[in-house]
Amino acid sequence: MSRNKEVTAAVVTVGEELLSGETTDTNAAWLGRKLASLGVPVVRRWVVGDDAEAIAAALGAALAVADFIIVTGGLGPTRDDLTRPAVADFLGLELRSDPEIVADLRNRFRARGVPELPVSNLSQAEVPSGARVLPNALGSAPGLLIEHDGRTVALLPGVPREMRGIVEEVLEDIIRDRFEGRLVPLVHRTLYTTGIAESVLGELVDEVRAGLPGEVDLAFLPGLRGVSIRFSTRARAPEAAELLDRAQAVLDPIVAPYRIGTEKGDLVEAIADVLERESLTLAVAESCTGGLVAKRITDLPGSSVYFRGGVIAYADRVKIDLLGLEGAVLVENGAVSEAVAIGMACGVAALLGTEVGVGVTGIAGPGGGTPEKPVGTVWFAVALKGRTRASHRVFSGDREAVRERGTQAALLLLYQMLADRT
Ligand code: ATP
Ligand code: MG
Repeated sequence: MSRNKEVTAAVVTVGEELLSGETTDTNAAWLGRKLASLGVPVVRRWVVGDDAEAIAAALGAALAVADFIIVTGGLGPTRDDLTRPAVADFLGLELRSDPEIVADLRNRFRARGVPELPVSNLSQAEVPSGARVLPNALGSAPGLLIEHDGRTVALLPGVPREMRGIVEEVLEDIIRDRFEGRLVPLVHRTLYTTGIAESVLGELVDEVRAGLPGEVDLAFLPGLRGVSIRFSTRARAPEAAELLDRAQAVLDPIVAPYRIGTEKGDLVEAIADVLERESLTLAVAESCTGGLVAKRITDLPGSSVYFRGGVIAYADRVKIDLLGLEGAVLVENGAVSEAVAIGMACGVAALLGTEVGVGVTGIAGPGGGTPEKPVGTVWFAVALKGRTRASHRVFSGDREAVRERGTQAALLLLYQMLADRT
């Protein structure tokens, strides 16, 4: 590994529970993101059980491909915690008890009302010769840093909170010092869109792709609320921002009609901005979404300023008795219809005395579909000071997907109507 070559990392996560799937390996995912952002991309990783031979084999393989290796898990006091002896043995290092760690452990136990340090915890004070101790403010097992043959190996506890604490409190600075001048961080930016299918967005972007800087990678990340475009580059500070700016300038005109320009990419933030600025109040009437629209709106702190409340009008009776729909309208059009969605939006605005009302009615499935109104059909309407607009979509996916997508579509119509009047 020559001096100028970029620095790479490998990760070994240890724990039988990771192999069996009892525990999801969140440490590996978190480390992947963290190390990429620091400029030490993870090029390979291993998951092994609580088995000294397997730990040693993984470490040996990791040392062959990376400059910086992180091993998490198995630093605890129990018999199945084998990382420390396995690594020391493999690297030919002697384990010695560190009096400072012993004293620290003793204090921790005293503070918790245990006068005698349990013998099993003494293993946590063992340090391979030459290793540096990385203090763990959130738990008993400290991390350990070992230099070996021009590579650096960090052993960290498995508990995610403790692992992250050590990385952010001590290890980040150590990495920056250790590999100074050779770090090329991965930086990215996200444009959030909604109301456009991934394939259609992809085709639009393809038309301008040739204008993007070659060093910038694009990823489309579809979710139930929309598709995010994430573009990233590996470059140092001023150059990275300039590359991302150039890429965004190319993408902006394509994405603009579908873009949610708020910080977290949540439509609800944009809706809140307009409602607050215009001093408008909002109420919702929901059938198939069962309160999801209200939940999305109230997920945002401070929503009490403009949100009055809602009615979950699941049964026809509730649509008639509370929202004032006429029975004949329901019979003639069916509960999932433009007329009913508009009736719900107007009805709830009148009931709760708001300027704006939203109505959603649909067939979430899996049953209840007909050839004319298949599962996934959702009608939504917005009433704004007496003006109304309604739209419908036929969403694909299971019950959860239809409900999430229906909610997002209703919020999008609300946002568009609010935006048009301002
Ligand atoms: P301790 O000192 O607490 O025993 P440790 O270093 O021995 O820490 P483990 O015993 O391997 O760590 O794991 C402690 C806890 O952290 C367990 O609940 C385990 O499921 C969880 N954990 C371990 N490794 C991971 C991982 N890679 N991702 C997510 N959780 C993990
Ligand atoms: Mg343990």
